[in-house]
Amino acid sequence: MKKSVLRQYAKLIIRAGVNVQKGQDVLIYADLDQPEFVQMVVEEAYRAKARKVIVEWNYQPLSKIHTRYQSVKTLGKVEQWQIARQQHMVDTNPCRIHLISEDPDGLKGMNMEKVSKARQLSYPIVKPYKDALEGVQQWCIAAVPGVAWAKKVFPGCSKTQAVEKLWQAILETSRVDEDPLKAWEKHNADLKARCDYLNSLGIEKLHYTADNGTDLTVGMIPQARFCGGGETSKPGVYYNPNIPTEECFISPMRGQAEGIVYSTKPLSYQGQLIENFYFRFKDGKVVEAKAEKGEELLNTLVNMDEGAAFLGECALVPQTSPINKTGILFYNTLFDENAVCHLAIGMGFMDTIEGYHNLTLEDCRKLGVNDSMIHEDFMIGCDSMNIDAYTRDGKVVPVFRGGNWAF
Ligand code: ZN
Repeated sequence: MKKSVLRQYAKLIIRAGVNVQKGQDVLIYADLDQPEFVQMVVEEAYRAKARKVIVEWNYQPLSKIHTRYQSVKTLGKVEQWQIARQQHMVDTNPCRIHLISEDPDGLKGMNMEKVSKARQLSYPIVKPYKDALEGVQQWCIAAVPGVAWAKKVFPGCSKTQAVEKLWQAILETSRVDEDPLKAWEKHNADLKARCDYLNSLGIEKLHYTADNGTDLTVGMIPQARFCGGGETSKPGVYYNPNIPTEECFISPMRGQAEGIVYSTKPLSYQGQLIENFYFRFKDGKVVEAKAEKGEELLNTLVNMDEGAAFLGECALVPQTSPINKTGILFYNTLFDENAVCHLAIGMGFMDTIEGYHNLTLEDCRKLGVNDSMIHEDFMIGCDSMNIDAYTRDGKVVPVFRGGNWAF
């Protein structure tokens, strides 16, 4: 890929993505796949007047080895220096960038039960720090191609060709054209207009139906609003948490989901694939989870903690989205979730609550925002999907018809 184009992309991540402020620290999580691009992002951060940029390198095979050889107790132990580091993050509020490139199958064979047990140990320790940064920190997830990922998406191509094609797909769907910053401004305005309309309806519940058998009703929180595109942090910085993003999303009312919903794309979870699955909901909770492939993992997910069986997100994405139009299955949630409509089990987003800046996390939980250590998106959109909004004043308003916006 041309260096000048990559430079534009790096700038997009720094300026429109996290929107680095003068004197702010930046934390970048990256895999070993694209060191030259990571270098560009670091340089762009300094050009935007970052104080200090720190890169944390990940390597999937190492995660596997650590999991295999460490005991659950060691894996789940949060050391004193790690706690100090969390506190330092809360004190200094650095931007956080995740440059994802991992192999969708890269953690195959890893003992997920061990991982989940370890997480159950560490999560309560790190949770207060995570909560303290929720809504305060600017963050951004964007992608770069890894060889194994590219080969998975384009199995017929050579390694070099596959990486180049994945770069193209990433840049195209991320709107990296002649003037990416301008393109994002326009895109954000479009998403905002959709959300404003949805929020004006006063939706009590959404009813999803499709030819595949999906028939699900999900209740809304009266104080929740649809969000999409950029967000504003508590200190008042506008940033884009996802590049790309196509969704208008909301956190639904915990405890209000009835019916059945079928997945329409495979779910890639921690390097493993779950395919052709469905969830049956009763009183908001998953009471049945079946999959043709990966059913055990699906159930591990749903049983991760108490909140993992409840919905945390409803997101509306038309079938005409640029990602869906590429026809590519990315095996990666950042892209696949932005291809079509999706739901998520697990944690809800407090920033979908009106005036959340003045509320505590506990207030938001009380209003009906779900809490969990997981947040896992799964795709449910298809060409036959219809969605109706039942409003609080008794109207039924079509929101989706045949997989696309009805307004
Ligand atoms: Zn989403």
